[in-house]
Amino acid sequence: MQIVKSIAEMQSICRNLRTQGITMGFVPTMGALHKGHLSLIQRARSECKTVVASIFVNPLQFAPGEDFAQYPRTFEEDCRQLESEGVAVLFAPDATEMYPNGAVTTITVPGIGDRLDGASRPGHLTGVATVVAKLFHLVAPHRAYFGQKDAAQLAVLRQMIQDLNFDLELVSCAIVRDADGLALSSRNKYLSVLEREQALVLHRALTKIEQSIAEGERHSSTLLQIGRNTLETATGIRVDYLAIVDARSLLPVATAERGVLVAVAAFIGRTRLIDNFLVA
Ligand code: AMP
Repeated sequence: MQIVKSIAEMQSICRNLRTQGITMGFVPTMGALHKGHLSLIQRARSECKTVVASIFVNPLQFAPGEDFAQYPRTFEEDCRQLESEGVAVLFAPDATEMYPNGAVTTITVPGIGDRLDGASRPGHLTGVATVVAKLFHLVAPHRAYFGQKDAAQLAVLRQMIQDLNFDLELVSCAIVRDADGLALSSRNKYLSVLEREQALVLHRALTKIEQSIAEGERHSSTLLQIGRNTLETATGIRVDYLAIVDARSLLPVATAERGVLVAVAAFIGRTRLIDNFLVA
C-alpha cells in the first residue's frame, strides 16, 4: 500500500489510475478504524479494481469545544488493517496540506446542512462537504463509499454531488454493529463500561420504533413517543434529537413510509453518539 501525504503526489497517482481506465473506489475516513470502516473497504474492493482510502481528522468539521484534540488516532494500526484489506493507496495529509494558510473557500448545503447533526453541531456539515469536495477533486474516484450511520452526512453529500456535478457514484453502506446492537463508532472508545451499557438504549429505542412500524403503526408522532418512552428509561444519557424525516431533505414527515429515516443522537456522558434506520 502506498501512503501519500502530499496533494500533488496524490493527484498524480490518481490521474494515472484513471487514464489507465482503472475503476477507482474511494473510502474517506478519519481513522481509528473499526469493522464499519472495513465493511466500506470490502464493498469497494468487490465493486472496483482499485481502492483508495483516506485518513484525515478534519478540523473543519469539529465545532469549537468538540473533541478534535482527543479524537482517537491509531495510524499505524489503521495502516495495517487497510493494507490487509487490499487498499492500494492511502492518502493521509496533515491539516496544513489540506488547508494551507489563506484557504477560505467552503461548501455549504443550506437547508439539509442545517438539519439533524447540522442543527446540533453548527458548521459540522459544511466542514464535511468542504473536505469531501476537496478529496473528490484530488482522487476523482468512480465510486465513493459512505456509511448509512452518518445519515445527515449522506444527505448533504448526495445533494452536493448533484448540485456540483461530481462525476461519481455515491454508494451508501449498511450500519455495522456489535453483537448487542451498538453501532460501531470510533467514539465508542470514549465510553466507560457503564456508559457502553447505557448507550445500548439508542438501538433499543430504534428497535422499538421499527417493531411498532412492522405492527402497522405509521404515525410519526406516535412512533416518536414510543422511542422517547424507551430513551427515558435510561440513566446517564441526554437526547440531542430523535427524528422521523425524509432521508434526502431531512425534513420531518408525518408518516413513516418506506425509505423514511428514523434517526437518533444522544450524549452518553460527554460522548455524542448517533444511530438510525431506514423504514423497510
Ligand atoms: P469516520 O471515520 O467516522 O468519518 O467514518 C468514515 C466512514 O465510515 C463514514 O462514511 C461513516 O459513515 C462510515 N462508518 C462509520 N461507522 C460505521 C458503521 N458502524 N457502519 C458502517 N459505516 C460506518
